[in-house]
Amino acid sequence: MMTRYGRREFIGLTAAGVAGTVGAQWLGEAPAQAQTVDARDADLVVFNAKVFTMDGRAPRAEAFAVKNGRFIAVGATADLRGLIAKNTRQLDAKQMTIVPGFIDCHNHAPGTMLLYEVHVGNPFEVEFVTIDSILEKLRMRMQKTPPGTWIEGYFFDDTKVKDARILNVHDLDRVSKDHPVAVHHRGGHTSFYNSKALELAGVTNTTQNPRGGTFDRDEHGGLNGRVTDRARAVFDKVGRRETFTPAQVAQRSRDGLAHISNEFVRYGLTSVHHQDGDLLALQDLRARGDLRHRVSFETSGKTLEGMISGGIATGFGDDWIKLGATSEHTVDGSFSERTMALSTPYPAMGGYKGNVTETQDDLNAWIERVHRAGIQVNCHANGDVAIDMVLTAVERAQKLSPRSDARPKITHCTLVNDDLVRRIKAAGAVPACFTSYAYYNPDKFKFYGEELMKRCMAFRTFLDAGIPACAGSDFYPGPFAPLMGIQGMVTRTGWNGETWGANQRVSVDEAIRINTVNGAYASREESLKGSITPGKLADFVVLAEDPHTVDRAKIKDIRIVRTVVGGDTKYEA
Ligand SMILES: [Zn+2]
Repeated sequence: MMTRYGRREFIGLTAAGVAGTVGAQWLGEAPAQAQTVDARDADLVVFNAKVFTMDGRAPRAEAFAVKNGRFIAVGATADLRGLIAKNTRQLDAKQMTIVPGFIDCHNHAPGTMLLYEVHVGNPFEVEFVTIDSILEKLRMRMQKTPPGTWIEGYFFDDTKVKDARILNVHDLDRVSKDHPVAVHHRGGHTSFYNSKALELAGVTNTTQNPRGGTFDRDEHGGLNGRVTDRARAVFDKVGRRETFTPAQVAQRSRDGLAHISNEFVRYGLTSVHHQDGDLLALQDLRARGDLRHRVSFETSGKTLEGMISGGIATGFGDDWIKLGATSEHTVDGSFSERTMALSTPYPAMGGYKGNVTETQDDLNAWIERVHRAGIQVNCHANGDVAIDMVLTAVERAQKLSPRSDARPKITHCTLVNDDLVRRIKAAGAVPACFTSYAYYNPDKFKFYGEELMKRCMAFRTFLDAGIPACAGSDFYPGPFAPLMGIQGMVTRTGWNGETWGANQRVSVDEAIRINTVNGAYASREESLKGSITPGKLADFVVLAEDPHTVDRAKIKDIRIVRTVVGGDTKYEA
């Protein structure tokens, strides 16, 4: 074998063979799952590439071979020639860059929203719109909608509006006085309503704010139409909404998922952590051959209850659809919409400290119950107050029911301090931080100021502390393009040229690692994916240019040439 394949490739094959006996030194060096593969007659050999494997034991390579959907050898081009047989597909990468498939650890994957709803902003890119253009789109929907039925717009972003003022109830009254109208901020925590919607919900100038939300007012004390977090619940029960038969619902779910699956691989994502959704539709989609990315399915509600009562722990499923952590259990408000819970007041907002949406007692009980069921806990916590609450509950659950390597996931984990970082490390928690925000949302960072931004999306701090922070785009709130995320993490400079919290910059290699290896770790799949390592799933992306050498302000523009999942091309430019 040594003489036929050469030493380097032998090392590659050996790595798969001795899997399970190699102790993991650090993320990405976890042994691949052992399996017996006849290394001859590869299905696919990729050669003449600049491969960044993200495997610390052999970080660079020129070539690799794939068989039965997994990498079987990684090494020099010359070393892999011996694996090419009559039926082996060969791919000359022409010196292009190859990295492991990107992993997004927090995505709402709203395929049906993308396919069927009104978009008042651009889901994928920085684009400025006008309030008139928003109203025009809503009016077009209104013409097909009977009075009394909701008209809703999605992907609104208050800092991507040319008018440079906030949308209000009077604007939306110009769409209709007979239909309830809502425009939802893409951040997912605030919405804007017209007078009809407020009237149907019985919200008046004298209505009190409920716990965990607000009905906002203008300078004269009247309702301005903006409603935050939990205060929005009253609108769910009023007005008519378009209804669908169960068969139509299922068809819309499948088509929506097929649509977004295509979008994911177009941007180089090969694994995505879904926040709930239609699990049956996902399985149908897979059966009909249209699921292009792998899914870590994060549950709540009925599905989570089913897991608990049925004894189904995190990890149930297979390489394509697997039950992951819970979906984000929300503890506070939003970073991009400035409702997250801070220990100090927002600068220039009259003492406002954001919304806590859960009591400590309720949170303790929920985390304990999920943790005891062997399910990976996942909480949405942006502000330092909320992160503290999550850690308090996690520490309590571990004390009551110790379980090693539980990896509680903290979605967003945006604003930290030294003490929280110490506790995150001690709890073995995995932060899934915003990635695309540094590029996409610099227009919102002034609401926090540089002192807080130095502690937000704190990738540098996490890596230095040995905490395996991963990437959570939070689409639809943020664009999910991994290369946009990487550019922002490396530069901390936004679309408008502003740089915030430059102390949190990471290197290109670290940013790729966060988007690959650390993503695999977050879903407990580091032995299966995240690096180009013999024995792991053959998920990789071919990039037209090398993000390590290209102008850093242009990383997001690098063309995705090909996205491969399990050795099969799922996207080709
Ligand atoms: Zn989310």
